[in-house]
Amino acid sequence: MADHPHVLIVGAGIIGASTAWHLASAGARVTVVEAGAPGGVATRNSWAWINASWGNAESYFRLRVRAMEEWRRLERRLPGIRVAWGGGLIWDLPAEQLEAFAVEHAAWGYDVRRVGRDEARRIEPQLVAPPDFALHMPGEGAVEPLEAALTFLKAARGLGATIVANRSVHSLDFRAGRIRGVRTDVGDLDADEVVLAAGAATAALAGDVGLTLPVDAPPALLVATKPSVKLLNGLIMAPGIQIRQTAEHRLLAATALDDDVARGDGALPAANACEKMKEMLLSGASLDLDWYAVGHRAIPRDGLPFVGRAAGILGLYIAVMHSGVTLAPAIGQFVAEELLTGRRNALLEPCGLERIPNSGIR
Ligand SMILES: Cc1cc2nc3c(=O)[nH]c(=O)nc-3n(C[C@H](O)[C@H](O)[C@H](O)COP(=O)(O)OP(=O)(O)OC[C@H]3O[C@@H](n4cnc5c(N)ncnc54)[C@H](O)[C@@H]3O)c2cc1C
Repeated sequence: MADHPHVLIVGAGIIGASTAWHLASAGARVTVVEAGAPGGVATRNSWAWINASWGNAESYFRLRVRAMEEWRRLERRLPGIRVAWGGGLIWDLPAEQLEAFAVEHAAWGYDVRRVGRDEARRIEPQLVAPPDFALHMPGEGAVEPLEAALTFLKAARGLGATIVANRSVHSLDFRAGRIRGVRTDVGDLDADEVVLAAGAATAALAGDVGLTLPVDAPPALLVATKPSVKLLNGLIMAPGIQIRQTAEHRLLAATALDDDVARGDGALPAANACEKMKEMLLSGASLDLDWYAVGHRAIPRDGLPFVGRAAGILGLYIAVMHSGVTLAPAIGQFVAEELLTGRRNALLEPCGLERIPNSGIR
């Protein structure tokens, strides 16, 4: 392999985009191939909460905390990356689980504060019914995910990366135990290394060369109002709904969806989510639904990212995960380092592909 390997990244969502920029910054030759418009599928429909919140083992928590720190560094390094560090207010768990989360995460060094009704009202004065007990994480934030992905790609292009849009990879060129590039409808593209960062499509592409990735793609609903006056200071995780306000002052709600609802067009749950936002906020009556999207996000079955190489397939690197918006700056950096130096960052320890049972690699 040449000193500066040619790395081909499949997918121009926030993971592919961050990886492209980190690789290009380190001097690699980079090509990003994107089936649609640059900026991703899950990425553009993401609620984009940057957090190391509850429900994860300590090793994964540490990776998320590092990613949060990387977002802060990026804001200084890459003009165009804007994170709103407004903090997260959470009360969508029973009180005993909130308490357990507070105890555990405080012991791990996370800034998590118990708040009562008055303090919750001070943090978010627009709440009609502030919770009696909630947790506040002042260090959490949100980024405009499409803008961030496009900023990475523009900066990567400025460093010599090639971004090929509207060109779908239909298979990997796998010969004699090594990936040699990708096959598209309009010809093959060669590379020294191929990074699969194709979000929900990653599993199918990997499956084609015998690698079974246990990743699901459940639907989730994102609902946006028309821009309004500023109503929220940070992010709200309330029972059944999460709300934040975007850089252009739209209220943005995310809710899980079951498959039956998602097979419909999502109009009814979107209208319900908008009604709920109106009811929750003192000045909510003036909110107007603007658009909604049913997004399918890749979710590994054990909840942990798949980031790494697959045994028996040289030249292939997998990067698929949920919480990709939170993780993107750290994952991009660590993937680039591993590809260019062979050194794997210790924080990727929970993300290896060796945990896949019977992966079926040929
Ligand atoms: C409603 C919703 C809320 C979310 N909330 C959060 C949150 O609060 N915090 C958080 O951290 N994460 C959140 N996520 C998850 C996060 O958005 C994703 O983990 C992240 O965007 C994944 O980025 P990606 O680049 O891996 O995938 P994507 O953005 O899906 O990008 C993959 C790209 O690969 C391309 N591609 C696919 N197949 C091919 C092919 N064959 N050839 C070429 N290109 C291909 C696609 O067109 C796409 O552009 C949420 C997701 C959704 C949908």
